[in-house]
Amino acid sequence: MIYDIVIIGGAAAGLTAGVYTGRKKMNSVILTKEVGGQSLLTDTIENFPGFDSISGRELINRMRGQVEKYSVEIKEGIEVESIEKKNDDFLIKIRNGEPIETKSIIVATGKNPRRLNVPGEREFENKGLSFCSICDAPLFSGKDVAIVGGGNSGLEAAMDLTKYANKIYILEYDSKIKGDESTQEKLKQTGKVKFITNAEVREIKGSDFVEKIAYRDRKSEEIKELSVGGVFINIGWTPSSAFLKGFVDLNEQGSIIINPKTNESSISGIFAAGDVSDVKYHQCVIAAGEGAKAVLSAYEYLLKS
Ligand SMILES: Cc1cc2nc3c(=O)[nH]c(=O)nc-3n(C[C@H](O)[C@H](O)[C@H](O)COP(=O)(O)OP(=O)(O)OC[C@H]3O[C@@H](n4cnc5c(N)ncnc54)[C@H](O)[C@@H]3O)c2cc1C
Repeated sequence: MIYDIVIIGGAAAGLTAGVYTGRKKMNSVILTKEVGGQSLLTDTIENFPGFDSISGRELINRMRGQVEKYSVEIKEGIEVESIEKKNDDFLIKIRNGEPIETKSIIVATGKNPRRLNVPGEREFENKGLSFCSICDAPLFSGKDVAIVGGGNSGLEAAMDLTKYANKIYILEYDSKIKGDESTQEKLKQTGKVKFITNAEVREIKGSDFVEKIAYRDRKSEEIKELSVGGVFINIGWTPSSAFLKGFVDLNEQGSIIINPKTNESSISGIFAAGDVSDVKYHQCVIAAGEGAKAVLSAYEYLLKS
């Protein structure tokens, strides 16, 4: 079977795209690693029109329900590995599965937390090492923890952890903590937080679970260790676009360059929406709007082709 349109990514942008392909009665499917994306990382969304306040999970459940109402299939647990041209169509290659053929594509794969790429990071993921304080802070009750990254997201992770952790070290590579001064002040007042600047993390150590974090003090050149029961990484985000490298044009950050009017990428027939694109602002309502725009453009593309 050849689809009219395949949506890659099942979160704010991709699910909205699914509502639109369903209503247009396009032969479509959503392929996604998991449903929800970043929205699942937030407890309260207070800026999505129609809801004074809603949890990210509830918002996604509602979007999913709406996609299912239009009988658009959502295939979960699917990781897209590459895309290639096949005559006028596209062939989507997935991990551990048969390739999928389609006339057009919407890429809505969002972004992922940046990694440190140091020894121990992969080994201890979900064994004391986490990228999401909102999800995991309660698991660290009474423990000493380290947060890597002293920007706003690192400080917010620290705020989440002050309710549970015993002591919190915030390790920042730079010589200065860059996050909001007012949040820094609030953290200082808890008496639980120690800021460590000029810290280049070298390794996460432990046996079954995280036990230590090792860093190079960039001033003294000494390698130092802290005994901790948890490590939270908060050093920014990268667009999930690696599978398109060399095929569609990406900017320096790895975002898919799109025509802002049509959401079309450098390859005709491939559209992008939401945080994976070079759209300037990253919010649920924007990702949803961009998902809708991308489908309307793809619909016109299919009529003309
Ligand atoms: C902690 C936090 C709080 C936030 N709070 C708010 C808020 O209050 N209000 C607000 O409007 N926004 C908020 N945001 C931003 C908002 O969540 C994002 O802008 C929005 O989720 C982007 O949606 P997206 O669909 O573009 O991508 P994502 O949400 O990143 O979803 C990407 C999807 O693509 C899938 N995927 C990735 N790679 C592949 C692949 N190779 N193959 C198949 N599937 C793949 C993923 O599984 C996922 O389903 C917050 C973000 C964070 C992290």
